[in-house]
Amino acid sequence: MADRIPLIAGNWKMHLDHLQAIAVVQKLAWTLQDARHSYKADGAEVAVFPPFTDLRSVQTLIAGDRLELRFGAQDLSEHDAGAYTGEVSGAFLKALECRYVLVGHSERRQYHGESDAVCAAKVAAALRHGLVPVLCVGETAEDLEAHGAAAVPVAQLRAVLETLSAGSSGAAPELVVAYEPVWAIGSGQAATSEQAQAVCAALRIAIREMLGDEAADATRILYGGSVKSGNIAGFLREADIDGALVGGASLDPVEFAAIARFQKHVGV
Ligand code: PEP
Repeated sequence: MADRIPLIAGNWKMHLDHLQAIAVVQKLAWTLQDARHSYKADGAEVAVFPPFTDLRSVQTLIAGDRLELRFGAQDLSEHDAGAYTGEVSGAFLKALECRYVLVGHSERRQYHGESDAVCAAKVAAALRHGLVPVLCVGETAEDLEAHGAAAVPVAQLRAVLETLSAGSSGAAPELVVAYEPVWAIGSGQAATSEQAQAVCAALRIAIREMLGDEAADATRILYGGSVKSGNIAGFLREADIDGALVGGASLDPVEFAAIARFQKHVGV
């Protein structure tokens, strides 16, 4: 898996208020503690993506107790500041010490009409503020039927990479890509590890073509869609899958820790 640091990311969606967030992060940290030596040895990352209103509490807890957890936001504005009621600037997320931010989750694309152009603008905003965007791509069941699995996610990725490669000079920016087949999200019906690997390999080829070898080898590509402790191992064995974006199962700290623990078996 080259030198890519595995990432297990938990997207809480619109669940858990700031008090519940504290309890879940504490329990997650305690549950992971037994395996902490392995985490350090592997350098694997575990990150949570709570709602905006939880971020300050999560930051205070993680920083105060020096927990080995990362955190990020579920969305950001494409704008930096101004008259954009309800929006949250990447600058504010950076000030809260967020490392990551999700961009283009299928629920944002579906319910908030986020186009590839909006996703590209949000990725640019994240990079402007020193955040690592986790760009979500994936096909619907209809896309799968009409075009096969890879066509839509690769097109969604290319639409964003085009805007990054245009005019950029020097090293490619750090980006994480999450392949999430929409039909697998919250359905209990995950893709097979072979299906997911095939699409993740196609995504890496697109990165290689558009940003070069260094970016292709460095970029982490996650699989997301009904990941659980019972199926994570198969995904992590695949060459182009560098971790997971976990929705429902990340709300249970014991189950999420069990998913994250599989990191230590990678490559063994
Ligand atoms: C998600 O929301 O990104 C997701 C993958 O959800 P779930 O794990 O519940 O399918």
